[in-house]
This record gives sequence, C-alpha cells and structure tokens, in this order.
Amino acid sequence: MLDALQFIKDRDPGQKEFHQAVQEVLESVKPVLDRNPEYARMRILERITEPERVIQFRIPWMDDAGQVQVNRGFRIEMSSAIGPYKGGLRFHPSVNLSILKFLAFEQVFKNALTTLPMGGGKGGSDFDPKGKSDTEVMHFCQSFMMELFRHIGPNTDVPAGDIGVGGREIGYLFGMYKRLRNEFTGVLTGKSLSWGGSLIRPEATGYGCVYFASEMLATRNDTLQGKVCLVSGSGNVAQYTVEKLLQLGAKVITLSDSSGYIYDEEGIDAEKLAYVMQLKNIKRARISGYVEKYPHAVYTELDPTLDCNPLWAHPADCAFPSATENEINGRDAARLIANNIMLVAEGANMPSTPEAVDIYLENRILYGPGKASNAGGVAVSGLEMSQNSMRLNWPREEVDRRLREIMKSIHTVCVESAEKYNQPGNYVAGANIAGFLKVVNAMQDQGLV
Ligand code: NDP
Repeated sequence: MLDALQFIKDRDPGQKEFHQAVQEVLESVKPVLDRNPEYARMRILERITEPERVIQFRIPWMDDAGQVQVNRGFRIEMSSAIGPYKGGLRFHPSVNLSILKFLAFEQVFKNALTTLPMGGGKGGSDFDPKGKSDTEVMHFCQSFMMELFRHIGPNTDVPAGDIGVGGREIGYLFGMYKRLRNEFTGVLTGKSLSWGGSLIRPEATGYGCVYFASEMLATRNDTLQGKVCLVSGSGNVAQYTVEKLLQLGAKVITLSDSSGYIYDEEGIDAEKLAYVMQLKNIKRARISGYVEKYPHAVYTELDPTLDCNPLWAHPADCAFPSATENEINGRDAARLIANNIMLVAEGANMPSTPEAVDIYLENRILYGPGKASNAGGVAVSGLEMSQNSMRLNWPREEVDRRLREIMKSIHTVCVESAEKYNQPGNYVAGANIAGFLKVVNAMQDQGLV
C-alpha cells in the first residue's frame, strides 16, 4: 500500500492535495486489501489513483477593457467504473492539477456512496469570477465551453457547479454547449428550474450535510435542537446548511469568506440569512457587509500570518466547515475539542487536515468526512439527470424525501462498513471502505480498461 503511495508521490511530486486525499483512502482500505490479495495482483491501487483521462486547455477571452486574457482549463475524468463521469467545475485562482485530482478522486468514492450510477470527475479553471462583470463571466464561460464541449455529454461526462460556479455560470456554459452541439440535453446539472433544473439542487449539499449530522447525532440519541453551531464559508453550501440548521432548531453563530469571518452571538436567524443571501448572491459583496446591517455582530479580518483560524475558537456544540480544503488544521481541531465540540460535519471537500482528522478520531467525536456528509449535492445532481432523461420534474417534497433517504443510506453504509472492518464509529473508514469496494468490484467486472 505504501509502495503505491510512494509511486504516486514520485510520479507527480508537486501534487500535495492529491497525495493527501490518496493517503487517507489508502490508509482506510488497508484491511480490505489484506482480506483481498488479488487486488494487489490486479494493481487496483495504481489503477484507481490514475485518472482515466486528463484534459488541459487554453481559454482565451476578452475583458471589458478590450484586453485579451488567457486562463487555463481542466477536466479530470477520474473513473467511469459505475457511470458517466460526474463532478463539479471550480473557478478559483488556486485551481491546479493537484487540487482538481484530489477533488476528482474524492468524487469517485462519494458518488459510489450515493447508490446512483455516477463515475467521478472534476474540472475548472484558474479564472477568478470575483470582481468580473456579468459580460466578462459570460465571455469566459463561452470560451471555456468551446473546448470542453467535445469531451462531455449526458452519457459521457456531466459537470456541475463548485466554488465560483453557480447558477449564472451554469447558464452561460449550458447556452454555449447547446449552440455548439445543437442539442438540448442534460449535459450539466445545477441548471435553472425553468430549463431542466431540479428543485432542491441549490439546497442539496447544505441540507444533505445537516441530514447526515442528524443521523450521526441520532446514534447518540441526540438531535440538533438547541445546538450552537459554527459554519464557515458563506456560499452555496454554507447558506443552505444554515437554513436547514435553523429549521431544525439549532443556533448558528458564524459565517465567513476568504477575507474574514463574522461572529453573531445572538445567532444568525432566517431574516439575517436572507440578508446574507442577498449580499453574496445578488450584490456579490463580502461577508463583512453583515456587520454594517447588524452592528452588534463582530467582523474579524483573516490574518494569513496566524497558524490557526479564530472562527473555530468559539465555543460550540457542532461545526460545519463549508468553505474550502484544509481550513481546519491540528491547532483548530485541538481548540474545538477543548471547547467540547461533539460533532464535525464537512460541507466542504477535505476541509480538515490529516492532523485535525486524527484529533477528531482520537477524541471519538462524531465526525462526518466530506465524501459522505456533502454527497447530497451530487446525489440531487443524479436525480436531476434522471428527471432530464425522463423529461419530467419531481415536486420539491419528492426530491427532498429522496435526498433524506440517500443521506440516511450513506450513513448506514458508513456505520456498517466501519463495524465490519472493526472500526466502529469511524465514518472515515466506513465511507472510504464502502466507496472503494463498490468501485473496485465494478472495475474487476469490467476487466483491464
Ligand atoms: P461557493 O463559491 O458558493 O462558496 C465558497 C465559499 O467559501 C465562499 O464563501 C468563499 O469565499 C469561501 N472560500 C473559497 N475559497 C476560500 C479560501 N481559499 N479560503 C477561505 N474561504 C474560501 O462554493 P460552494 O459553497 O459551492 O463550495 C464550498 C465547498 O463545498 C467547497 O469545498 C466545495 O468543493 C464543496 N462542495 C460543494 C458542493 C456544491 O454542490 N456546491 C457539493 C459538495 C461539496 P469568497 O466569497 O471570498 O470566495
């Protein structure tokens, strides 16, 4: 197993996020490999960690000042063992091959957990939508799709949104795909309701994460009612995490963006959340604007020289990291534990460093790793694909019921797999083992492809 990891590190030495994601999975599945020696003979680890295809391309576009800009675009088609490649597009200046390979690798196991027939992929660009006009975003999306269209399709690869890619971007991308192919198909998910989108898709990742947290708490005969919660981020996942937490009677005291965070001792209620949604989604402004409207709250600018994030130092019962990778390090995790946190449910992908994860597991808190707890987004994307294929739309209650069932079944399979491999209560082991087995069995059935 360690040979496989070393091989990957030697082959792509600069890809630290990818190595981090692979290491976690390989450590979890060691007992599976011990029980199944044929996996080594079939070089399963070497195959499952090597993308089926990596596409990288140039994206030239013109800004509003008439200047030519050039960005880099990617699509990682990681695994099609159990269905067409499926996974989001991220537009953020930090995007590179390492980040997208880590996200695509995680996506493979996450999608397997949903029980829906979806392989894993991820893509995006180092384009920064912040501060760009709608016209600039449209020109960029159109240029991006002018290359991506030849690699994707409703039965091949179905991208969705991620950081920096919301309803506006999906609309521009879909419009260009439709024009180039002369086809109106379910090639992207996260579409607007009036042209093929699914109800509950915007809410799905946040709602699903809270449903998963409720399932974890139920194993200890507890609920979210009255729990004080820390939420990071203020984008799609964070907003709907807060909405569902409020519906279930919890109190949320923080939100953040890449510039800083707000702390509202009185709690972010439904009216304040509506203001945040307006601030972030319509005005495309910063979370610091919250304290202009609610001056009793405190805004703290992010200090990059600090080796910890003060958001996680506020005493609370539950934490929902919903911004980005590695946003909780070992020091932050130790502070959460010192403040008696009982649950961490990850809305973001890999928001906890390996040191933080070790601390959660040592202290036996309820810890839902992203590939299980944030799978609700891709699950409803899968439901959007089904609705597109059938050319019908399910009502809100129907999609929400299916989402809840899927999150419950992911929770059950994590618990059962962890128990089967003698690690009861360890959702990291449970998620990795269950996802791995499903994908590997499909790979074995399909031969060397
Ligand atoms: P959005 O772009 O809607 O929001 C991202 C939020 O995180 C913003 O508040 C953003 O702040 C903040 N953020 C982004 N990068 C950083 C950074 N480097 N440091 C601090 N804050 C940062 O994205 P989503 O809400 O869709 O995604 C959030 C997380 O959830 C990501 O990890 C994503 O991969 C994961 N996820 C998303 C799913 C989905 O359905 N959308 C599905 C499953 C997982 P700012 O405004 O300053 O950029």
